[in-house]
Amino acid sequence: MLTVAIIGLIANIVSLFLLHAGVNHSLNLKATYLHILGDTLSSVAVIIGALVVTLTQVTWVDPALTILVALLIAKETLPVIKQASLILMQTGPKVDYDQITKDLTALPGVNHIHHLHAWMLDEHTTAISLHINCTNQELSQIEPLYQQIETILKTKYHFNHVTIQAECHRGEAESLIANEIDHFEH
Ligand SMILES: [Zn+2]
Repeated sequence: MLTVAIIGLIANIVSLFLLHAGVNHSLNLKATYLHILGDTLSSVAVIIGALVVTLTQVTWVDPALTILVALLIAKETLPVIKQASLILMQTGPKVDYDQITKDLTALPGVNHIHHLHAWMLDEHTTAISLHINCTNQELSQIEPLYQQIETILKTKYHFNHVTIQAECHRGEAESLIANEIDHFEH
């Protein structure tokens, strides 16, 4: 048991070393890292358990170490589960949507914004779509405005994908966050 645990420990330490660089950049790598970390701590627990049980015959040390390792890993894993759940639920990123309204309606030519949707695609990618009410103009003239809005949403609020729909008066009475009733009145 001791020999197998030592071989396992060496393999896991190598894996941890290789994975460590990517842990802060990818949720998948972080989950994998935690899995290997669990294996590594288990190997350590088995080694300590084997030595203690052999030397002292105190057998409860082995299950006690197992529970300790399980609790440590659970503590580290909960934030990963939480973040993965938020992504799977397509939760909107935590940004100040009132401030977005203020920033965008402060742009010359933007009278109102409505029907905003925002969601997370993964831990790095967030998407936003919104309708803007602006003065009647050529499509080519709206493009610089699109560019300004996109720059604000990407640099200040860190959205990666921005979709904008320009309208003159359509949806003027709608609120920022769309709901079903707004949708049908649209
Ligand atoms: Zn609209």
